[in-house]
Amino acid sequence: MLEPFLSAVPVLEKIEKAGFEAYFVGGAVRDFLLNKSISDVDIATSATPNEVKRIFPKTVDIGIEHGTVLVIYQNESYEITTFRTESEYQDFRRPNEVTFVRSLYEDLQRRDFTMNAIAMDRNGKLIDPFNGQSAIQERKIQTVGQATERFREDALRMMRAVRFVSQLGFDLEGETVKALAILVPLLDKIAIERKRSEFEKLLKGKNRKQALNLLIKTGLFSFLPGLKNQKNPLEDMQVYDFDELKKNEMWALLLYALTLKEKAVEDFLRNWRLPVKEIRDIQQIFLYLLKRLNQEWTLYDLYVAGHDTIKSVEIMFQVIKGTKKNEAITRWLKLYEQLPIKERSEMNVTGNDLMTWFDRKGGPWLKEQLVKIEKSILEEKVVNDNSKIKEWLMECNQK
Ligand code: ATP
Ligand code: MG
Repeated sequence: MLEPFLSAVPVLEKIEKAGFEAYFVGGAVRDFLLNKSISDVDIATSATPNEVKRIFPKTVDIGIEHGTVLVIYQNESYEITTFRTESEYQDFRRPNEVTFVRSLYEDLQRRDFTMNAIAMDRNGKLIDPFNGQSAIQERKIQTVGQATERFREDALRMMRAVRFVSQLGFDLEGETVKALAILVPLLDKIAIERKRSEFEKLLKGKNRKQALNLLIKTGLFSFLPGLKNQKNPLEDMQVYDFDELKKNEMWALLLYALTLKEKAVEDFLRNWRLPVKEIRDIQQIFLYLLKRLNQEWTLYDLYVAGHDTIKSVEIMFQVIKGTKKNEAITRWLKLYEQLPIKERSEMNVTGNDLMTWFDRKGGPWLKEQLVKIEKSILEEKVVNDNSKIKEWLMECNQK
């Protein structure tokens, strides 16, 4: 067995010594069978959360109502979840209450796709009652049990299916895609935060174009915030070679394809319940992208935008223009690096200086003067030195 499973084997052993079953489950087992790198392992057990807490001295309750306890063992942390079923599905959403069970089979049965319903014991033996391994071999995403039933239980699974297409490049199995195309309207019932989390994984996936195409083909896009009736823009977006873009650049490209105006941009991103910081980043990239498509950077824009935004905008500029010239990106970034100042706080002059020099009280004129000085420093019309700035300002005023 390989890391990170290997270090977790003693955790499984400890649970077994206490008289319970424990297995590796979920994405880690799937990715292991795909030879993909694995960040962390999930463990499922027949022990209840309280029983898990009795076995390990150091634990954190991270989702005890869903049966998940975080166990700290030899300086590593492991998410350990009690075998469970989700019997009472209501309103096409995942249930609020879960029932703990003692059987691994039942736990695997409630999982979404066969590739995600494989368990592995501490010796590396696979328990695979739904033929997840052959699905992986055939590169197929197939629900455990009847697709229509499983999507009705929890409509988010439809979005998960498409985000796995993006991450893995698999196809949806026949019945699964049929059920999906029929049941997509149920996604209206799903919390936007849950949709966003899957959508962002979709935007980052290696096979994002294939996944976006599937969103269009199945009509799923209509049940995502701000995308209703936006089939044409989504199709137009597909002409770009966007596989290398980062997540926020993908959001900005989406805004570009939708040809949203400034106010609508903010609403669109808010409707997706994106965190404020992310909204600001995406807006900034989008704004400078539009500017850049019309003109070259000014020194002042380079300065305000900053390194990361410049890079994002230049990469997007090339994606939209269909060119690929790293020299151009390097050239703008170099110009940025050579700016005499990178932030307002680096200016060797303050509002107080100006008030003293002009013997005037504060007011709008102050800000105006500071911006004028800032621009002149950037354009190297004046050196960033307190007395040089004073001299220069007095000269300007005499003119
Ligand atoms: P990733 O590598 O992106 O984390 P993952 O398969 O581990 O992929 P998670 O969202 O972390 O996905 O979920 C862990 C496991 O829990 C899944 O592999 C699946 O077995 C199960 N699961 C998650 N969400 C659902 C759901 N909505 N319905 C049924 N089973 C689910
Ligand atoms: Mg996971």
